[in-house]
Amino acid sequence: MKRRLRTLLSLGFAVILFVTVAIISLVANLLINAAFRSYIKTQQEDFSAMIAAGVSAQYDDETGWNEDYIHGIGMYALGDGFILKVVDASGEVVWDAENHDTEYCHRIMQEIIDRMQKAGKSGGFTEPVAYSLEKDGVFIGTAYISYYPYYFNENAFGFVDSLNVILLIIGILAVAAAVCAGTVFARKISVPLSKVADIADEIAQGNFSARAEEETGTAELSELSRSINNMAEKIERQETLRKQLTSDVAHELRTPLSNISAQLEVITEGVFEPTRERLEGIFEEVSRLGGLVNDLQRLQQIESDEPVFGSVELLSLALSAASAFEAEVQKNGLVCRVSGEEVVVEADANKLKQVICNLLSNAVKYSLAGGAIEIRVKDGGDCAVLEIEDGGIGISKEELPLIFERFYRTDKSRSRRTGGVGIGLTIADAIVKAHGGVIVAESEEGKGSTFRVILPKKREEGSAIRTKQA
Ligand code: ADP
Repeated sequence: MKRRLRTLLSLGFAVILFVTVAIISLVANLLINAAFRSYIKTQQEDFSAMIAAGVSAQYDDETGWNEDYIHGIGMYALGDGFILKVVDASGEVVWDAENHDTEYCHRIMQEIIDRMQKAGKSGGFTEPVAYSLEKDGVFIGTAYISYYPYYFNENAFGFVDSLNVILLIIGILAVAAAVCAGTVFARKISVPLSKVADIADEIAQGNFSARAEEETGTAELSELSRSINNMAEKIERQETLRKQLTSDVAHELRTPLSNISAQLEVITEGVFEPTRERLEGIFEEVSRLGGLVNDLQRLQQIESDEPVFGSVELLSLALSAASAFEAEVQKNGLVCRVSGEEVVVEADANKLKQVICNLLSNAVKYSLAGGAIEIRVKDGGDCAVLEIEDGGIGISKEELPLIFERFYRTDKSRSRRTGGVGIGLTIADAIVKAHGGVIVAESEEGKGSTFRVILPKKREEGSAIRTKQA
């Protein structure tokens, strides 16, 4: 079963926080315990010294030891887990907790050992520590005190327990907060993602006008939405072109076919004589049909054939293409000039010539009588630039981005009966892309157009395939 992003993120947050809180609790516990132990140790040492000082004060030079008070001190100390034994200067025992009330003393010691064991701490009472007792600088005896080191009394245990409870509550709250934060973050990502997925589904089902919201608040998601929208736009345009292609091909075929059939009909019925002019008219229509079929075939070939690369000098290629068009240029009352410098590129000469011819053919077709066509070849460092400029009818701003699409023809060119079917630029573009280059078109309606072909001088391995896919 696939987990939802929301669950994954919430779980992730919870695990990270749980581990963090667990580590913090553990470290805090260790540090606090260590600090607490050292605090208790100092307390115990101070208390022992205080007991010894208290015992010293119970000696009088004349009356000797005040045993009642020493007994009081000893019993008080015993209550707190300190076992006291006092001997005088001659080594005689003055007071000994163990001898005085052996049973009570052992019970207290056992209680302390049991409590510490219950808390998971093993150990026992220290060897008695000797404190030398003095009065006015004179040695009067020794106090031996033994106690359970690091003994946690009721309060100390209470403190450590409440600390652990506080850490546990913090941990639970943190994990709960992590789950909430994870859910909120995940929603922020998963909701727009689901929307984009829905839009992609809609597109897949044929609704090419569906668009994803591009402002999602997350850069990567907005990028994804933009990519989906771009893809939808491209598919929508391709779909329009496909429909247009069918109607264009049908239209392009219908006109010459119906002309041919009408003319042949009247000739076969004997209404008209099969004169030379009539037959020439029929031949012209058949040629148009042939041209259309050739263009379609050429486009298919260009898109499937890989170029055959070699060293090509661009200026000579431009000159040879221009001379092939000399008659056409003259027939239309135009002039064509070629200028620039010699630039060698790694390219397929035949295909590149095809590009120049297609662009030149358009410049001738869409120029007005008396106009000039300029072909310029420039060295652009790493690349070569070939420009074909005409002062013809130009292309509107709206139509300019569409002219490289298959079968696209501007409204103006349709009305001019140029004989074109909207494939020339698609072929040129496919060839240039297969060389790793680009074609850029600039145009102003009524003023003319410039087509700029930019080609890398050296071809990068695999660039043709990359650009074809791009
Ligand atoms: P066509 O065979 O119709 O010329 P192309 O693919 O070569 O097809 O060109 C597509 C469309 O771009 C043309 O129909 C025309 O409208 C426009 N176009 C191309 N070149 C020029 C140009 N030099 N001047 C004006 N319009 C042009």
